[in-house]
Parts: sequence; C-alpha cells; structure tokens
Amino acid sequence: MSATNSNLVACDEGHPIGSLHLNCDTNTVSSVGESGLTVTFHGVRGSTACHDPQTHRYGGNTSCVSVSSANESPIIFDLGTGLRYMNSSQDEAKPKPFVGACLLTHLHWDHIQGLPFFRPLLCEETVLNVYAPKQEDGRSLREIFLKKICPPIFPISLNEFKATINFHEVGDDDFMIGNTKVISRFVPHTGPTLGFRVTVGGSTVTYLSDHQQPTSGFAITTGARQLCQGTDLLIHDSQYTPAEFELKPDWGHSTLEFAMWVAETTSSKRLALFHHDPSRTDDALDVIAQRLAGVAKNRGFEVFAAADGMTVEVGGVV
Ligand SMILES: [Zn+2]
Ligand SMILES: [Zn+2]
Repeated sequence: MSATNSNLVACDEGHPIGSLHLNCDTNTVSSVGESGLTVTFHGVRGSTACHDPQTHRYGGNTSCVSVSSANESPIIFDLGTGLRYMNSSQDEAKPKPFVGACLLTHLHWDHIQGLPFFRPLLCEETVLNVYAPKQEDGRSLREIFLKKICPPIFPISLNEFKATINFHEVGDDDFMIGNTKVISRFVPHTGPTLGFRVTVGGSTVTYLSDHQQPTSGFAITTGARQLCQGTDLLIHDSQYTPAEFELKPDWGHSTLEFAMWVAETTSSKRLALFHHDPSRTDDALDVIAQRLAGVAKNRGFEVFAAADGMTVEVGGVV
C-alpha cells in the first residue's frame, strides 16, 4: 500500500470521505512545513496479527507507529509486527542501522512481537532507547525482555543482537528526547500501561493504543486527559462496537464511540481510529469511517481509520 495516501479527503475516484483510498492519487490532507511531524502507521491491528483477503487493505500488522520530524531522531510508538516494515532495507545483506527511541505502551505480545524481526538490530551502530512502564512486581524491563526473546521461544537471545538496546522505566513522567517533549501517563488497560504525548515545536501527537473505557458511562482519567487535551492528532484504541464491548467489557479496550467522545471532550483536532479488532473487515471499516467522519464534522474534528502504510502530516508551517 502506498505510504502517501490519507483517507481524510474526497477524491476523483469516488472513495467516500473518511474511507481508505485505494489505487488513487489522493495525497495527504495537509501541507506540512519544516516544524511539522510525519506520522507513519506501520501496524494498526489490535491483539493479534491477521492476514486474509478481508483485512488486507487496512492491514493486519500489530501496533507500530513512527513519528519523524526535521533534525530529530525518529520516535516509534510500540514494537508490534508492523515494526518489521519500518526502516526496512531491500538488501538482505545490508540492514540499515537505526538510532532512535521507542515509547512502549506495555508489554503485551501484540506490542513487542516485532522487536526481534527489526533488521537494524543486526547492526552494531544501532542504538534503540526503549521507554516503557515500570512493572508492579519489581522486575526490570531488560529481565522481562530477556525471558521473552530467548531459546526455545526465539532462536537467539536478545543479548546476542549486535545493536545496543537501552531500557528506561517510566511512569507518570515528563521528559525530553532531544528536542521532543514527551509526557507519559498510566492509563486504564490490563496491567501497567502508558499513553504518550509528544510535542515538537507546536505540533503534538497523542498515542493511546490500548485504553479501557469505563464499563458504565463515559469518563476519562486525569492522566489520559493531560495526554489528549487539544492535541493535533489523537491515535486511540477503537477496537469494539458497543455490542462487542458488552461481551468483553473488561478486556481493556474502547469502543469506536468512546474514542469519538474522548476526541471531542479533549478538543482533539483529528482522531485516528486504531487497534482495529482482528475480526473487523475492510468493508466494515469503510462503513464505520464514513459514518463517523460525518459525525465528527458536526462535532468540530476529523476522524479516519488508520491503515498499515498510511502517512499523515501533522502541524508545521504551511
Ligand atoms: Zn494491544
Ligand atoms: Zn494490551
């Protein structure tokens, strides 16, 4: 899939506003200047990777999104299977090194499974700084990763990769990565889970991939509100329909409607529907995105359904 399509605009091919543009030349919705951010979705699926004819357009890779801006090292949200498609080199013999940071929301499989398949880890020059939530049982992040990426689960230990991987334990913190301002806050899910807000210049992106909505009524924690308030782009868990949520009220996720409410109540400018349920077909997402685009317009923001390979420009001087 082209990495330049955006689904926020109407096109000459007749694709509805809010749905995915396929095989047409529609480009990103906004021009972006030097201080803007480029957000690329490498994996948008929740829970488990999937691959079948009914999900191939929006994509089946699990959570991974990168943010890049001029003069700053790239930042990756989560290390799901989509990570394999970031920074990928066509030349198998020459993997490209990577120097940057990962803001990891939590340690569920769908958010870390791409790490040992990230080819830059084969390069000595690669330095990956992983910022992830402190664990309640006191185990260090390195200890947990070494237990997940080692024989017989994986052919080699994480320690055997040539790259340098540094782990940083964070919680409700404000910190800088280069000139990027980062806010991390614990959010409701299952187990210790963070959401992140990154700001470069005047451009802000918020990432709340896995977010448990309240089981009765809509409400938002103080921390989640601090992450979302007035953001330029809110990437938010939208795994369930209301009917599905009734069956899985405590599985740690949000409905599409709750994601819409969070965007509206925090005056977010754009909402990316994210962490799509593995059972959600492309056709169903087209219908959802088209319906919600109309609703969002009336509420003063924009919404679209994220897809693997999609690039969105945020902020900057036009
Ligand atoms: Zn997840
Ligand atoms: Zn999770």
